Amino acid sequence: MLPAYLEQLSHILGPNDLVVSPAQSNPLLIDERQLYRGRAAAIVQPRTTEQLSQVVSVCAKANVAMVPQGGNTGYCGGATPDESGLQVLINLSKMNQILDIDAASLTLTAQAGVVLADAQNAAANQDMLLPLSMGSQASCQLGGNISTNAGGLAVLRYGTAREMVAGLEVVLPDGQIWSDLKGLRKDNTGYDLKQFFMGAEGTLGIISAAVVRLQPRPRAQITAFLETPDLASAVSTLMLLREHLGDCITSFEYMSREALMLTLVQLNDLRNPLPAATGNFVLMELAAFDDGAGLTEQLTRALQVAILKFDVGDCVVAQNDTQRGDFWRLRESIPEAEKRAGGSIKHDVSVEISKLSEFAVELQKNTLAYVPGCRISLYGHLGDGNIHFNVLAPPTLSAAQFKREFADPISALVHSAAINRDGSFSAEHGVGRLKRDLLASSKDPVGLQLMRKIKRTLDPNGLMNPGKVL
Ligand SMILES: Cc1cc2nc3c(=O)[nH]c(=O)nc-3n(C[C@H](O)[C@H](O)[C@H](O)COP(=O)(O)OP(=O)(O)OC[C@H]3O[C@@H](n4cnc5c(N)ncnc54)[C@H](O)[C@@H]3O)c2cc1C
Repeated sequence: MLPAYLEQLSHILGPNDLVVSPAQSNPLLIDERQLYRGRAAAIVQPRTTEQLSQVVSVCAKANVAMVPQGGNTGYCGGATPDESGLQVLINLSKMNQILDIDAASLTLTAQAGVVLADAQNAAANQDMLLPLSMGSQASCQLGGNISTNAGGLAVLRYGTAREMVAGLEVVLPDGQIWSDLKGLRKDNTGYDLKQFFMGAEGTLGIISAAVVRLQPRPRAQITAFLETPDLASAVSTLMLLREHLGDCITSFEYMSREALMLTLVQLNDLRNPLPAATGNFVLMELAAFDDGAGLTEQLTRALQVAILKFDVGDCVVAQNDTQRGDFWRLRESIPEAEKRAGGSIKHDVSVEISKLSEFAVELQKNTLAYVPGCRISLYGHLGDGNIHFNVLAPPTLSAAQFKREFADPISALVHSAAINRDGSFSAEHGVGRLKRDLLASSKDPVGLQLMRKIKRTLDPNGLMNPGKVL
């Protein structure tokens, strides 16, 4: 016989919104990086906030832990239940309705399970821009993006997910609904409660809907692929471009030669836009609100200075949307290329941009000294001081053996290097289960105590995504 709370869940949801077949449930029980394989007492897919609230209330009364899940693209195992088989997985995929687009207020209101790319398209169809974008956008969901405070490819100009949220609706760990679905620019009426839930990775409540800020849609995008000798030159070039072009630079992405070559080998339908280049690469994008001709000219002039001062090499500007897509595909395919090469020991670290080059050079040296011959796929959001420092097996070791033997010491090396420079061991991917112990050992103790107090206040029984973050 089913436990009473499972009977109640099936009564609330009906058979179609309970996932029972292994073909459907198996992918939901493994995280994106395949580090964790969980089991669940039930997998539920509510469609409305009210249903979600009832589900949470039933679980809370039965003292059953819950794990919220969006698109399951997170990198830290936050959306995977543990191995006990006692937790309920609450998958938000069916809460996928866009509720409103307000052109005057420049906002989009949507249920949390709306896929990011669908939200972007809905905004574009009304001639506006939802500037959050990332390689996983065809699967990840707004609720997951907000819960991880996702960064992505245009943080330089528009900020992280947190900065795009005007209002939230959250189902609290006891099932109550806290609704603040307002698109206000200004609202100084006490504590900004929504901040608690953004970046909380589902440990304080389940985001059921959000009001997201949109932007005017640029009329033209200038996308350029540039050869640069090293990170130092790339940082200096960004500073120079900022002086000349102001805040119209939306993205400034670095790709080490090793990262790009790995991608070209693993995904052989991709092409290097600068085949003769021998250095590293930057992919940059600028937004213009006219045809972009003037901005292209300014960019060309600024790059001529960069060639003389910082030794940057050749640059090619995308001539059409296809070429622009091809440039971006190179950048966005790096994680897939690493996966095809057997996987990497991944890191997502940030330091102040002024310290970035020295940090990366030293880290590369130390990592190569520790594992001679390993391959370092270094790329990322240079403009945000955030690099992915991913280490692949040397030719002498299998990927599996390499990860087994070296994952812990190499990660310790990378994370302590970031922390010692007042950086972050997790710039945008969060903490989840993977980096929980690291948070406990490296966060300022007063800050950690505050986090624990907030958790106890909002979730006194510890039922919301236990074992994650804290
Ligand atoms: C190819 C690729 C590229 C990526 N690029 C980037 C990038 O550029 N920048 C970046 O920041 N990340 C990136 N990521 C990581 C990932 O896509 C983001 O973290 C994304 O925001 C996760 O969204 P999701 O819907 O998949 O969340 P999930 O993976 O399902 O969940 C992530 C966390 O949020 C919680 N959660 C999910 N939905 C809710 C909700 N509605 N309410 C409360 N908690 C919830 C989960 O419990 C979990 O702790 C990338 C991933 C891949 C695979």
